[in-house]
Amino acid sequence: MTNQNAAVDSEAALDPGTELTTGYGSSPGVATGPVKIIEDIEEADRIEEGDVIVTEMTAPDMVPAMKRSAGILTDEGGMTSHAAIVSRELGVPAIVGCGDATEVLEDGQRITLDGQKGTVVVAEAETDDGEGDDAEPEGSRDVEGGSGGPPTTATEVKVNVSIPDAAERAADTGADGVGLLRLEHILLSTSKTPEKYVADHGEEAFVEEISEEIRKVADAFYPRPVRARTLDAPTDELAELEGGENEPHEHNPMLGYRGIRRSLEEPEMCKLELRAFKRLHDMGYDNVEVMFPLPNDASDVRRARELMEEVGIDPEKRRWGAMIETPASIRSIDEIIDEGIDFVALGTNDIVQFMLAVDRNNANVADRFDDFHPTILKAMADVIETCNEHDVDTTITGQSGSHPDMAKFLVEKGITSLSSNIDAVDEVRRVVARAERKLLLDAARETLDDDVQPN
Ligand code: PEP
Ligand code: MG
Repeated sequence: MTNQNAAVDSEAALDPGTELTTGYGSSPGVATGPVKIIEDIEEADRIEEGDVIVTEMTAPDMVPAMKRSAGILTDEGGMTSHAAIVSRELGVPAIVGCGDATEVLEDGQRITLDGQKGTVVVAEAETDDGEGDDAEPEGSRDVEGGSGGPPTTATEVKVNVSIPDAAERAADTGADGVGLLRLEHILLSTSKTPEKYVADHGEEAFVEEISEEIRKVADAFYPRPVRARTLDAPTDELAELEGGENEPHEHNPMLGYRGIRRSLEEPEMCKLELRAFKRLHDMGYDNVEVMFPLPNDASDVRRARELMEEVGIDPEKRRWGAMIETPASIRSIDEIIDEGIDFVALGTNDIVQFMLAVDRNNANVADRFDDFHPTILKAMADVIETCNEHDVDTTITGQSGSHPDMAKFLVEKGITSLSSNIDAVDEVRRVVARAERKLLLDAARETLDDDVQPN
C-alpha cells in the first residue's frame, strides 16, 4: 500500500485530526487512548485498561493485554493475521499492516483510530473529566432493526470463534452455530508448543485443556453445532512459544508444516486432540463436530478419518468434515466426498492465498488478495455444486464469508451455510434473507411468465 504516514514531530504539537498513519481497518469501531509501543511480549504487562497497543505483530500470549486495550495497531499483517482475527472477536477496534506505526507514533501520545476506515489521527485534547471530545461509546455496533428479531434464513448463518472467552458474545448474535472454532488459539494461549505442554504437564492435562476450552463454546451454543478444527498453526507462530526452539525454520511457513500435514506426520499428537473431541462426545456434547484443515486429496482425509476411528470416534455417527483450502483439494472434491465426510468448509483465506499465490500475511501484496477473483468464485461455485449433488453440506469460513457481496453470491450458488465474524453476523443474515427472497421472487415470476404466454 502507499504510505503517506506523517512522522511525529515531538517538538511541535500536531493539530487534533492530523493523520499519523493508515493501514487496513480490520476490526470496526473508533477508539481513543494513549499509545503503548510493545516491542517484546515481555512488555505486554505494561498495557493498562484503555491503552492503544502499537506493535509489529500481536502474538497469542498477548491476548490478555489485547482484551484490556482500547485499540490495536500493527505494522505487519493482513486481514487474516492474528491481530485481525482476535481483535474482531474481542470487539476491540484494530488496524493492521500500518507499516510504520511503531516508528511514527510515540509512547504516551493520545491518538484516535478508526478500525473501519483504517485511519489513525491525533486525538482531541482531553477535557476536564478526562475524556476526549471525540470519545466514542465502547463497542458500538449495528443492532438488528425493526421488530420480530433477526430474519430466519434457510441458509444457515454461523459464526467463527477463535477465543473461547468470546463464546458468549458469539452465541448472543443468535448465529446458527459455530462454523469454525480454531484450536490453535486455544493451544497457543498456553504459551507453550503442544509438544512442550505435553512434556511439562502430561498427555492427560493436554486433552483436558483442549476439551475444557471447546466445552466453553459447546456450552454457549448448545444444541447449535460447533465445528472445531484440529491444529493448524504455522511453524513461525509456534517458534515464538516456549518449546518453539525445536520448530523447523521454514522459508514459507504458510506452505509448510501445518494443518493436516503435520497431524498425519505426528499422529500421536493429533490423536490427543481427537481424544478431547471424544471426551466431549462422551459427556453428551453431541453438537461438537470435527474438522480437518488443509487436506490436498482423499488420502489425507482417509488417514485423518482413521485417526478418528483409532481414538473411538465413529465417523458414521459423528458429523465430521474437511476444509477445502488448496487448489488440489478443489480438484479432488469428488474423491474427498467419497471418504464419507458430512461437510466441507471453504477456507477462502487459504484458497485465495494458494490460487493467486499471494501471501495472506504480507502487507506488500495485500491489495492483490482478491476473494472476488473470477477463478476463486468459479472454484467455489464448482465445489458447492458437486457437494450439493452428494448431499454434503458446504460453508465458507474464510474472512470473505463476512462480506455481503460474497454472501449474496454464495447463496445464489446454493451454499448451505456461511460462517462470519461476530460483528458481521447481523448484516450477513440480512443479506442472506434478501438473496433468498430474490431467488424465490425470480422463480415465481418465471412461473407466472410461463403461465401467461400467449398461445
Ligand atoms: C481459511 O483459510 O479461510 C480459514 C478459515 O482458515 P485459517 O484462516 O485458520 O487458515
Ligand atoms: Mg486456512
